[in-house]
Amino acid sequence: MRSGHTFHSNVKVRTVEFAGSLFDAGAPVSRDLPQVAFSGRSNVGKSSLINVLLRRTRKKLARVSATPGKTRSLNFYLVNDRFFLVDLPGFGFAKVSPRVRRSWKALVEDYLIGEPKLRGVVHLVDARHDPTSVDLEMVEFLATRGLPTLVVLTKMDKLKRMAREGSVAAALERLNIDEDQVLSFSSKTGEGRDELLTALDDLIAVDEIEQ
Ligand code: GDP
Repeated sequence: MRSGHTFHSNVKVRTVEFAGSLFDAGAPVSRDLPQVAFSGRSNVGKSSLINVLLRRTRKKLARVSATPGKTRSLNFYLVNDRFFLVDLPGFGFAKVSPRVRRSWKALVEDYLIGEPKLRGVVHLVDARHDPTSVDLEMVEFLATRGLPTLVVLTKMDKLKRMAREGSVAAALERLNIDEDQVLSFSSKTGEGRDELLTALDDLIAVDEIEQ
């Protein structure tokens, strides 16, 4: 990428199909395709990001939550007949009981540990706030498992330049990650969409080269 030029990815989202939900242990999808999971606390902007990423403007795929914390399952979307985008439940909301929260956590962890086709995780953090201990826990968990992790800072349109830089610096420092693991995103302006698509393509391409 040359600085000062708009980055255009040639990765195109052609088809998207809802492929199933996982509420409990088990395998909701049978096709042997790579998977990339998206995580982040409720209200971080995950549904908006997925809709923008997959260009679902009229018919929305992921529901943008009016009542936060609604998504309790892992939702699978088949993209381009090539990989599954897996929407993990966002937790961290006061409204759910500790017992429910623990069961979501177990469901997510079982998936992250047990899914052999998982090629990486995109973890979302609201750019306006410092990463929390829950974010750190997640990123450390992924690092321990050796899963490629990308941290996406959401709602970047809400920040001015200095604050943007501060947000990236805070993520690098608090989450102990490299610069190439952080990406700025806005579902309002589309900033970061092409970069994220290219990053996903890199994760998935590993499988295709190996075949
Ligand atoms: P989720 O709970 O993580 O799926 O979050 P949503 O996608 O439902 O978004 C939560 C709230 O943040 C909604 O009111 C969205 O309109 C808002 N939001 C999400 N992404 C952005 C963004 O990039 N910019 C701005 N300004 N608002 C956003």
